[in-house]
Amino acid sequence: MARCHLLLFLAALSSIFGLLHASAGDADPIYSACVDQCEKTGCVGDECSQHCNFTSGGVPVDGPWYLQEPLYLRWKQWDCLSDCRYHCMLAREKERKKAGLKPVKYHGKWPFQRANGIQEPVSVALSALNLAMQFHGWVSFFIFVNYKLPFRPNRKPFYEYTGLWHIYAIFAMNSWFWSVVFHSRDVDLTEKLDYSSAVALLGFSLILAVLRVFSVTAEAARVMVSAPLVAFVTTHILYLNCYQLDYGLNMKVCLGMGILQLILWAVWAGVTRHPSRWKLWVVVIGGALAALLEIYDFPPYRGFVDAHALWHATTIPLTYLWWSFVRDDSEFRTTTLIKKAK
Ligand SMILES: [Zn+2]
Repeated sequence: MARCHLLLFLAALSSIFGLLHASAGDADPIYSACVDQCEKTGCVGDECSQHCNFTSGGVPVDGPWYLQEPLYLRWKQWDCLSDCRYHCMLAREKERKKAGLKPVKYHGKWPFQRANGIQEPVSVALSALNLAMQFHGWVSFFIFVNYKLPFRPNRKPFYEYTGLWHIYAIFAMNSWFWSVVFHSRDVDLTEKLDYSSAVALLGFSLILAVLRVFSVTAEAARVMVSAPLVAFVTTHILYLNCYQLDYGLNMKVCLGMGILQLILWAVWAGVTRHPSRWKLWVVVIGGALAALLEIYDFPPYRGFVDAHALWHATTIPLTYLWWSFVRDDSEFRTTTLIKKAK
């Protein structure tokens, strides 16, 4: 969890920092003139995008989405803009390289080479691996709780957090799924879905951290703890999607929720007698070290591997360890409860 938070919140953070500060590339007037020109003609030099031929003039209509032009036309506009930005970026970077200048970021992202139309193939592959890792962890937890551990007389597991971990797995897999999509194609919709899923996961993992660290098991107490957090996270997601995708605000919210749960787990790992507390430590420290990758951001090696991609790589082993901690925790609680019952 801590890992996941840290990761996710760092992922969100990195994108945010990128979007806030590192857009030297798109501030370049030659680049922006190129994009404007391309949106009209569909071409950059000899490169032309077939997505830029609009039958309706390509002007979005105001009003609710169901009254606007068909969705496919909207996709076309997104594709046109994204193709134009891509080709202008490549053209500009070629010129900059000739002039002996270093790569700069465009719209918060380094100049990546596309592969088969995928924007950041390495981040996509690593996000997919993270997704697979979450799925593996979840299935192994499911099997462990349902087939390896004893049940209560009412055929329910002893472990009081089973249901919460199942929900957590769904949030985590959802979040990595949208990360795959977002790194494949960065448009308004995929960006919002990626951000919203990450915030939802962060929020839920914070609730889970509070419930587990303070051993909240009574239904009423759980509802009391969760309700304000659920309300807060829902409001924040609605604000991002329906009002304004405010990167600065989102960064503060994610940072707040991320740091809070990290502290919770770290303090708990320090005071608890939990037999697997070292796994918590590794995840917390590993996550913090991985954060350095996001701070020492560097341009992609050969146009493919940047710091953000490497960071997605580090979350894969941490995810494995995290689910291993969850399994240990279920076993630990089950043994404790059985001992108590005797
Ligand atoms: Zn990412």
